[in-house]
Amino acid sequence: MAAETLTHYRTCPLCEATCGLEIAHRDGEVIRIRGDRADVFSHGFICPKGSTLGKLDRDPDRVRRPLVRRDGQHEEASWDDAFALIEERLAPIIAEHGANSVAVYLGNPNVHSMSGVLYVKPFLKMLRSRSIFTAATVDQMPKHVSSGHMFGHPDLIPVPDIDRTDYLLMLGANPYESNGSLATAPDWPGRMEAIRDRGGKVVVVDPRLTRTAKAADEHVAIRPGGDAAFLFSLANVIFDEGLADLGGLTDHVEGVDELAMAVSGFTPETVSPACAIAADAIRRIARELAGAERAVVYGRIGTHTAEFGTLASWMVDALNAITGNLDSPGGAMFPLPAHEQSRSRRPFQTGRWATRVRKLGETRGELPVSALAEEILEPGEGRIRALVTIAGNPALSTPDSGRLEDALASLDFMVSLDVYLNETTRHADVVLPGSTPLRRPHYDFAFYGLAVRNVANYSPALFEPEDDSPDEWEVLLRLGATVSGQGHDADVRALDEAVFAMLVASGVGEPTSPIHGRDPEQIYAATDGDAGPERMLDYLIRTGPYGDGFGRDPEGLTLQRLREAPHGIDLGPLQPRLPDALCTPSGKADLAPAPLRADVDRLRSSLDATVNGGFLLIGRRHVRSNNSWMHNVDILMTGKDRCTLQINSEDAERLGVSTGGQVKVSSSAGTLVTSVEVTDDIMSGVVSLPHGWGHDTEEARLSVASSRAGVNSNLLSTGAMDPLSGNAVLNGIPVDVVPA
Ligand code: SF4
Repeated sequence: MAAETLTHYRTCPLCEATCGLEIAHRDGEVIRIRGDRADVFSHGFICPKGSTLGKLDRDPDRVRRPLVRRDGQHEEASWDDAFALIEERLAPIIAEHGANSVAVYLGNPNVHSMSGVLYVKPFLKMLRSRSIFTAATVDQMPKHVSSGHMFGHPDLIPVPDIDRTDYLLMLGANPYESNGSLATAPDWPGRMEAIRDRGGKVVVVDPRLTRTAKAADEHVAIRPGGDAAFLFSLANVIFDEGLADLGGLTDHVEGVDELAMAVSGFTPETVSPACAIAADAIRRIARELAGAERAVVYGRIGTHTAEFGTLASWMVDALNAITGNLDSPGGAMFPLPAHEQSRSRRPFQTGRWATRVRKLGETRGELPVSALAEEILEPGEGRIRALVTIAGNPALSTPDSGRLEDALASLDFMVSLDVYLNETTRHADVVLPGSTPLRRPHYDFAFYGLAVRNVANYSPALFEPEDDSPDEWEVLLRLGATVSGQGHDADVRALDEAVFAMLVASGVGEPTSPIHGRDPEQIYAATDGDAGPERMLDYLIRTGPYGDGFGRDPEGLTLQRLREAPHGIDLGPLQPRLPDALCTPSGKADLAPAPLRADVDRLRSSLDATVNGGFLLIGRRHVRSNNSWMHNVDILMTGKDRCTLQINSEDAERLGVSTGGQVKVSSSAGTLVTSVEVTDDIMSGVVSLPHGWGHDTEEARLSVASSRAGVNSNLLSTGAMDPLSGNAVLNGIPVDVVPA
C-alpha cells in the first residue's frame, strides 16, 4: 500500500524572517513546501529559499559521516575515531600553548538553530579560550556596541515597528532581497506596501537603486560610507531648527545636551560632499522625519559595515529618540520574546582583552574576525595554532580571504562542524557532520528577540537524524568534553544535566524569576523532556514573560502549548518597554554615551578627506542566496549569472567595457577578474559585487556551486575596521577597475 502523504508545519530557519512553512511529505521524503497561510506571523509568505529545505536535506554532497583527513584526502570515519583524533591532536596543543591557542569561528547559521544558541556557550565555557571570532564582526557588531552603550545590553536592540509607522527612513538595507535583518518581519515587501497604502512614506537611502528602493516613494543615492555623516546631519538640523521632541521619553533618557553638542557642526552643507546628498534634501528629510506622527529610522548592513559603523548605528537610535519615536508605536520598539529572562544592570564594557598583533579590543566577548588571519600567521608567543569552525565558511565570508586561506593552511590542527566540505572545512583535519533543518526541532531564540511583532512558534523535527548521527547539541557537548580534558568518551547526558542544573539554579536564585526560591528538584520534575534543547526551551518559555511560571499562572505558555499551536502563537504588537527593559546602571537610556562621543572627532576629520579617482566597492544581496551556503542547491542557482560587477553606464563607457566583458578589480588586499554588468541602478563611481562566491576550490565537495563558481569578493576586502566595534569595513572599499 502506498504511504500516506502527511502535512508538517514548521518555521523556516534559513534567514531572519521566520516564515511558516507547510511541508507535504511521504515516506521520509519532502513532496512539496509552500508558505503556511495560517502562520500567525508570515500568513503564507515564502521566498525561493524556503521551498528548498527538502533539496538541502537530500543533497548528495552533504557531509553525512565524520571525515578525517589522511594524506590530504578526506575519508569517512566513525564518530568515536573522529573524536579520538580530535583529543589526540588538540590536547597537546592546549597543554603546551594554552587554551587561547585554540580559536573558534562561529558562522551565522549558529543563531538559526536551537543547539547553536543553547549549546555553543557551554562548549566555549569548557574550552576556556578567549580567541573567539564570529560572523557578527563581519556585519552587525556596531548595533550591539551602540545598544550596549545606549541601553545597557548589546542585545537590547530596538526594531522598526513597520506595521504601524507612517514614515520609514531606511539606510543600507535591501529587505526585498535579504528578507530583513535585525528586524524580523516575514514579507517585508507586503509590509512596506502597507505603509504606502495607509498614506505613509518610505525613503530608501542606498548607493544602488535596489529592488527595495524601487518600491519606495523616494530613493536617495548616498556615497558609500557616508551614512554616519548623513545621520549626524539629520540630527543637527532637528536640534538647530528646534524640532527635537522626546515625546514620553523625557524621564527615561539622559545625554540630550551632549548629543546636541556631538552633532553640532554637522550641517547639511558640511556633510554634503562626504555623502553626496544635496544639503536641501538632507534638510527636507530631517523635517519630514521630525514632522511625521509616527516615524522610524532603520539602518542595516550598509550602515554597519563602514568605517563609522558604530557612530551610524548610534545616530539611528538617537534620531528615533529625539523625534519622539523611540519605544513608541510606529517608531523603534523593543520586542519582548517569550523566552526572555531578566537581565542585570551593569556597565557595558568592551576591550576587556585584545588581540595579540594589533591589540584590537574584544566586543561582546569576541575578537574582530578581520584579525583572525594575522593572529594565526604572525609568529610569536600566543599565536593561534588550532581552529574550530562551527557552521561557518570564513574562507569566503570574512575579509582579506587570500591571507586567511594561507592562515588556514598553516594551522597545526583544525576541526569543523558543518554540513558541507566547503572552501573552509576542506582545511579541517576532522569534519563532523552538522544536521539539516528538517532533522532538528526549531524555535527561533535569536530572531523572536528582533521581531516586529511578539510571536512564538515551535517546530518539532520532521525526520530522524541520519544513520547513527548524534544531535548537534550532543556533538557540541562531546566536543567540549574533548577539549576540556574530560575525555572524548565523557558522559554527554551527565554534561547536559549539569548545564540544565546551572540554568535552573540561576532562576531559583534570581529575585525577579517566577521560580525564585523554589526547590530545583521540583522544577526538574515538572519540565517537559529529559534532555537537550527542548527541555531548556520549556524551562525558558515557562519562566519567560508569558510563561506559566511552573504553576504560578495556569493559563501561561509552556512548550506543550506551543506544540498544540503548529501555526504559532501571536503575542500581540510590540508594547512600550522603557524604562523597565533598560540595563544601564542609571536606569536611563544614554543618548550620548562617552565612548561613542570620543569617536566623533574622527568622523569630523573624515569630512575633509579627498576622494581619489578610483571606484568604491559595495556588496549586494540576492533573494536566492544566503551568504555562501545555499549555493549547492541547484534550483537556486538557475538563471543568469549573479556574480557580476555592477557598474554605472557612464563609468563603463569611460572604461570601454560592456555587459559580459571581463574586468580586473584591484584593492590594496588583492585582485580578481570578473564579468561586468552595466546598469544605471548604481551611482557613478561605485561598483558592486555580491559576497559568498568563489566556489572554485577543487578540494571542496560542492558540485552544484562549483559549476557556477563566481569570484570571492573578500579577496578585495582589507583588514580595515570600525575601531569601536571591530566590525569589518566592507562598504566603500577603494578599488581600481580596468578591462581584463
Ligand atoms: S524569507 Fe527567509 S525565513 Fe522566509 S522562506 Fe525565505 S529563507 Fe525562509
